[in-house]
Amino acid sequence: MSILLVGAGLSGAVIGRRLAEAGETVTIVDSRSHVGGNCHTERDAETGVLVHVYGPHIFHTDDAEVWDYVNAFETFRPYRNRVKATTGGAVYSLPVNLHTINQFFGKTLRPDEARAFIMTEQADTTIEDPQTFEEQALRFVGKDLYEAFFKGYTQKQWGCHPSELPASILKRLPVRFNYDDNYFFHRFQGMPEHGYTAMIERILDHPGIAVHLDTVFDRSQGADHDHVFYSGPLDGYFDYELGRLGYRTLDFERFTHDGDYQGCAVMNYGEENVPFTRITEHKHFAPWEDHRGSVCYREFSRACGAEDIPYYPIRQVAEKALLGDYVRLAGAAEGVTFVGRLGTYRYLDMDVTIREALDAARGFLDCRAAGAPVPAFFAAPL
Ligand SMILES: Cc1cc2nc3c(=O)[nH]c(=O)nc-3n(C[C@H](O)[C@H](O)[C@H](O)COP(=O)(O)OP(=O)(O)OC[C@H]3O[C@@H](n4cnc5c(N)ncnc54)[C@H](O)[C@@H]3O)c2cc1C
Repeated sequence: MSILLVGAGLSGAVIGRRLAEAGETVTIVDSRSHVGGNCHTERDAETGVLVHVYGPHIFHTDDAEVWDYVNAFETFRPYRNRVKATTGGAVYSLPVNLHTINQFFGKTLRPDEARAFIMTEQADTTIEDPQTFEEQALRFVGKDLYEAFFKGYTQKQWGCHPSELPASILKRLPVRFNYDDNYFFHRFQGMPEHGYTAMIERILDHPGIAVHLDTVFDRSQGADHDHVFYSGPLDGYFDYELGRLGYRTLDFERFTHDGDYQGCAVMNYGEENVPFTRITEHKHFAPWEDHRGSVCYREFSRACGAEDIPYYPIRQVAEKALLGDYVRLAGAAEGVTFVGRLGTYRYLDMDVTIREALDAARGFLDCRAAGAPVPAFFAAPL
């Protein structure tokens, strides 16, 4: 069989590898001049620092099979994501934890005292059933922490007031009553020693896989293949005939520094009058390397235009209605399966992307073995 995969990101690479290992002939096209999709990493020409070109990526998972999978292709170095935030003229630790609370309120509370303080003196308990992001934050952390750490950042990130966003965006209690400042809870966390692109190049390194970069897919190419896996934008596959699914895009303003600019990988800026959301200093993502120079990105978020890179799907009521229409179109299309973050219009962490890609490859091979039709989606977008 001959399979065409659109996109040489994690979705395309992992599916392609599994199918090639099963004896299929796999062709992968990508419109970009590199593999790796949005996980792409490359050496900065000026400083030699390994840069996360499309924004910082930290690998974290509880999925042992996925962890074993990535470790088969790359050495992962221990890495803990420790994020700081500048707000109100001071620097704090994120996610909001006991250190943040004590520093912010000038107190020396122990865990139970801090919990009681937030619940009784800060949280707005008159809000019984929070509907919006703002109500959720006021209900669980109160006005002061909300305004310092959540309000401005969220407004900049999503381009609308937190009262217009659903409560579900904010996790149930976005505060820790201990000094744990590890951003993620997952069992397995780490950074690929030589970057994500090196790892993805190794995944793609199989005699059954041919990769064509700088190649834009159009639907007519599907006719030359038995099946297409498409990890590009779902609406793009249909030439946006029903309209465009809404995304936020990011602009990165690069600057260099001689030495250590901010002392950590990620510094958030919570205030609305600071136009960017965060600064990432990339050499801190590879603490085992030694670089005198430093390269940093100021990150700005805005509405995604037709020529921009789609980053975060918005998935509000209007977008979900349009998504439903595209899902119906996709269900009627033949010989194509939509995968990945763009193909299913969902935010997917890398571990979930890999899990879904492994499942899609397995599902495809099972369908073929059973002589059953291959579905348009192995992971439901809605
Ligand atoms: C800012 C940001 C930070 C993130 N940080 C993390 C993190 O810390 N940890 C984590 O686990 N996950 C993180 N993620 C998620 C991670 O980026 C995704 O899980 C991953 O990129 C999904 O891979 P994919 O292959 O589905 O999509 P992509 O990486 O987007 O790959 C799709 C590929 O398809 C190509 N393509 C699209 N249309 C066409 C076409 N018509 N013709 C040819 N090629 C086409 C694109 O060029 C692209 O290379 C982050 C995401 C963002 C946006």
